[in-house]
Amino acid sequence: QIFHAQMDVDYHYRQRLKVDLRHAISAGKLSLAFQPLLDIGTRKVVSCEALARWEHPELGQVPPSTFIPLAEEIGLISEITAWVIGEAALQCSQWPGQVGVAVNVSARDFRAIDLQGVVDEALLRTGLPPERFEIEVTETAVIEERDIASNVLAGLARRGVGIALDDFGTGYSSLSYLSALPFSKLKIDRSFVSEIAEQPRALSLLTNVARLGRDLDLVVVAEGVETEAQLNAMVAHTPIQQVQGYLFSRPLPQRDIAELISRLNAG
Ligand code: C2E
Ligand code: CA
Ligand code: CA
Ligand code: CA
Repeated sequence: QIFHAQMDVDYHYRQRLKVDLRHAISAGKLSLAFQPLLDIGTRKVVSCEALARWEHPELGQVPPSTFIPLAEEIGLISEITAWVIGEAALQCSQWPGQVGVAVNVSARDFRAIDLQGVVDEALLRTGLPPERFEIEVTETAVIEERDIASNVLAGLARRGVGIALDDFGTGYSSLSYLSALPFSKLKIDRSFVSEIAEQPRALSLLTNVARLGRDLDLVVVAEGVETEAQLNAMVAHTPIQQVQGYLFSRPLPQRDIAELISRLNAG
């Protein structure tokens, strides 16, 4: 009984969110937060990841883990993606130095929009060089849309756009596509990072995953770095090149990110 009542609440809640999300998208009410990726040696900001944010007028911040799947269900994810690409490129073109920007794309985007066209247009309009722009794609997305994804990613890579494999280690564990697709970066999921300061086996696993990436000539990034102890273990034992996580910065609203870049990259 309780179970059914809860499902009903969830159903109505989700229906309401879908209606409100549709309005928020058409009214331009989404925003972006940016989280820096730092070079592990210099501690300078190399690029920032764009993360979509939705502040609901009554419910407050709805997390992307809730609204991105809803957007996929109602067929509006690609509108979000296209907007994120344009907005992220625009913001990045105004940041100090040569800091790049990364955006997340969904499996559906490969069919629903001309990703290459959208990226080209954004780069042309903002004057951002392709080397400063990066697409993040999950294992699941590239496997689901294998043929079309490999074509689109190859086209983007040919232009010089970076291709990062996101959440590495959490999806399908077939490794064949790692060398078959034109990735430039491997982002190791934070589940490989969380225990490394306490568990020798966890550190050994992270080290070996990072070596795999380095052997394939990928830039290797650790996600979800939260403590100095985790960072120190990585510096001492792994070939990880870039780090991202709350230890350095939470995702920040766009008005604060330029200042953070200036501060961290000064001197
Ligand atoms: P993701 O692409 O793996 O993004 C990283 C997530 O990890 C972000 O959550 C970020 O806030 C969080 N994070 C960063 N550092 C730490 C840390 O040190 N500890 C912990 N516990 N978490 C950390 P966020 O912003 O809630 O986004 C969640 C997911 O939603 C993203 O995971 C991504 O899959 C999706 N997402 C966000 N924005 C977009 C978008 O514009 N398009 C698409 N397709 N997906 C998006
Ligand atoms: Ca990502
Ligand atoms: Ca990730
Ligand atoms: Ca994730």
